[in-house]
Amino acid sequence: MGLNVTEREFSFYRQRVLFWIDKFSLKQWQVDFRRIDIDESGARANCTFSAEGMWATFGFAIELGPISEWPKWPNNKADIDADAYHEVMELLLAELTTIMNSRYNISEGCVDGAKHRVVATLENIVRPLFKEAILCRDGLLCRRCDM
Ligand SMILES: [Zn+2]
Repeated sequence: MGLNVTEREFSFYRQRVLFWIDKFSLKQWQVDFRRIDIDESGARANCTFSAEGMWATFGFAIELGPISEWPKWPNNKADIDADAYHEVMELLLAELTTIMNSRYNISEGCVDGAKHRVVATLENIVRPLFKEAILCRDGLLCRRCDM
């Protein structure tokens, strides 16, 4: 049995997803949230979407795997925020990846690899430009996201 993810943690994830959606002007998307079972890759968050329908569902685990090193609330705020940011970056690239997957003869794994290289740049270069994110990363109780 792994660690349970509390409602407060899930609610914080939701809040940070909405925060990044706002920052990246993705408000035209209809978004939804749900609790998910952790997948075999160990990912505790995901984003499923329809670029045609302009909807996205952000998932967050109900329970973490037994080997997880996730710290206890509120020290995991930075990790939750990083997950939220990552998934919103996937949404930012949703239309592009949908086009790539449907119109070109490239494997989904190949598109996914290329997408994650862009996401890594967005995480390492772009995210630190947001002061609020830096506060969260330091584990400080940022006024903006404190609950
Ligand atoms: Zn990803």
